[in-house]
Amino acid sequence: MAFRCTPATKDPVATLAYRPWTLAIEPFQVAPHTWYVAGQTWVGCYLIDTGEGLVLIDAAIPESAYMLVDSIYKIGFNPADIKKILISHAHFDHMGAARIMKELTGAELYMSREDATFMEECPEETLVLDKDSHPQTFEVDKYYSDHEPIVMGDVTIRTMLTPGHTIGCTSFFWEVKNPVNGEVYTVGMHGGVGANTMNDNYYAKSRYLTPALRQRFFDDAEKLKAIHVDIALPSHPNQIEIVDRAGQYTDENQIYLDDTVWAEFIDERVRQVKVLM
Ligand SMILES: [Zn+2]
Repeated sequence: MAFRCTPATKDPVATLAYRPWTLAIEPFQVAPHTWYVAGQTWVGCYLIDTGEGLVLIDAAIPESAYMLVDSIYKIGFNPADIKKILISHAHFDHMGAARIMKELTGAELYMSREDATFMEECPEETLVLDKDSHPQTFEVDKYYSDHEPIVMGDVTIRTMLTPGHTIGCTSFFWEVKNPVNGEVYTVGMHGGVGANTMNDNYYAKSRYLTPALRQRFFDDAEKLKAIHVDIALPSHPNQIEIVDRAGQYTDENQIYLDDTVWAEFIDERVRQVKVLM
């Protein structure tokens, strides 16, 4: 299915913080060895089975952590087998529950150096960006390097610093092999594309982010589009429609496999940022 997005959840923070169960969704597979495990439909969390332990990308907010943990059990894994937690960017909705997940699993927590500093120096634009956010602080164990992929078991995850939405926003690319036919697919997840922090109103009150980041976002878009991505995953599920096919994935029937989605998605997000300029 070609690229499609849907409107964002209405009042997402207040809804997820005070009535998380109203956004509940069962876990579902999106690619070989890769599942959507957020347990709710607003902010994405993905679990990758590397064969030698699990990797979790993003943790969402503390109030929905129980849904994330439940999702992991429901697909037959144990959260204790999560060895690495990768945070896409320093906004409370992606890393608010990082501390809970780190303490529960004992996993190493990764983030970009840029966003770790942003979080430390500017909590009002990261940890408590929204009045209804109640994140907990946490220690970062390792910083990403674009030149040094994260290797675990059968999976190599390449990271790419993609500033714009935050200063240290990080995108992820990994290869997975279809156990049925041996085909290898590149899965890609952009770390953050929200125009809410790439407009002049935001820059006017920001202590940290500047319009130079927006320009970097535009410049990187071309570089990103040149990367071949077979399965494009959103950091918020409304940004690339995936929930519509939840539960339909099988290794034989690759319903999310479409190498046109990635570039169309990047174009659409650039368009949205330009609309606000
Ligand atoms: Zn964000």
